Amino acid sequence: MKKRYLLTPGPTPLPQQVREAAALPIIHHRTPEFQKIFIQVNEGLKYLFQTRNDIFTFAASGTGAMEAQVANLLSAGDKAIVVCAGKFGERWREICRAYNVEVVSIEVEWGKAVEPSEIKRLLSEHKETRAVFTTLCETSTGVVCDIKSIGRIVKESRAVLVVDAVSGLGAEDLQADNWNVDCVVAGSQKGMMLPPGLGFCSVSAGAWKVINNSKLPKYYFDFQKAKKALDKSDTAFTPAVSLIVALKEALQLIREEGLENIFKRHKMLACATRDALCALGLKLFSGTFCNAVTAAYVPAGIDGTQLVKLMRDKYGVSIADGQGQLKGKVIRIAHLGYMQSFDIITGVSALELALSELGYKLELGKGVAAAERVFSNY
Ligand SMILES: *Cc1c(COP(=O)(O)O)cnc(C)c1O
Repeated sequence: MKKRYLLTPGPTPLPQQVREAAALPIIHHRTPEFQKIFIQVNEGLKYLFQTRNDIFTFAASGTGAMEAQVANLLSAGDKAIVVCAGKFGERWREICRAYNVEVVSIEVEWGKAVEPSEIKRLLSEHKETRAVFTTLCETSTGVVCDIKSIGRIVKESRAVLVVDAVSGLGAEDLQADNWNVDCVVAGSQKGMMLPPGLGFCSVSAGAWKVINNSKLPKYYFDFQKAKKALDKSDTAFTPAVSLIVALKEALQLIREEGLENIFKRHKMLACATRDALCALGLKLFSGTFCNAVTAAYVPAGIDGTQLVKLMRDKYGVSIADGQGQLKGKVIRIAHLGYMQSFDIITGVSALELALSELGYKLELGKGVAAAERVFSNY
């Protein structure tokens, strides 16, 4: 028998209510019954995104929503500033280049956060910049980005600010409207406690002015089409009905707990994870820690890929390997979405056992004890 535990930064575990909602008999989407659910969902999304702007829901992974954002905002030859501080910042750049958008990259060392002043400098150097693309939580490094400060800077320019919050939404505070974030991109399978398959884009009034002049090709992801439908609480094409029914449940759970408490819980889990890793003698990878995922160096002489595999195959605990240049060198433990203290205890315990089995000298229980100390103080 193998019981499984999912501590990866997407997909994340699902609450029972969400799983049950996703398994309900399918209903037709052009019905009052579905429309009622869709209206509730759109209200719930505004609470989660902390915005009064429209939020479009597409049947796509998070990357699809990122691509939608680029295709709707820009025209070929437009200039965009892209913060590249890890794998997902690089993805913004790759999507922009695929659409022949001229990219001004800010290369940030992996594990560090961008200096907002760097964005200010580049905006004054490239006044024609149409959009600034950033990442709230850089999932590949475990770093959180200072969106509030960046929002203040971008507001002073003609550019729109786009934030990839796929892993950060629901784990970190992101006050879209208060912080002048024009577009927030999200995905279902991380902090939103849903299966993979939904991508979200929020759009501010300022962004609409840019969107209305965009000439890049799009069809399914066309925000104008999506808006026309959304204004009638409808979707342009067949929505992912079961996922939207499940989303209603997830948003209800989010409302019940409250954003404030959700952020507090994530902060506590992140803190416990960091303390546990440090107690085991592991070195944390990043400096500005995010509350969604923690990255730490694998101890010398141990192969991170093998460690992740051993934890999964022998103990049923899935954590993530490093991405790109960090593969085998760091491990990433998610504390994201439907998680509480005992998920972290389980993860840390499995890590101790696996590290010990691979020959790393540690005192069993030391990481677990460190995590417990954090929990008992909350
Ligand atoms: C997971 C993730 C994405 C999107 O990934 P998909 O696999 O396309 O859902 C984008 N950005 C960040 C920061 C992520 O963590």
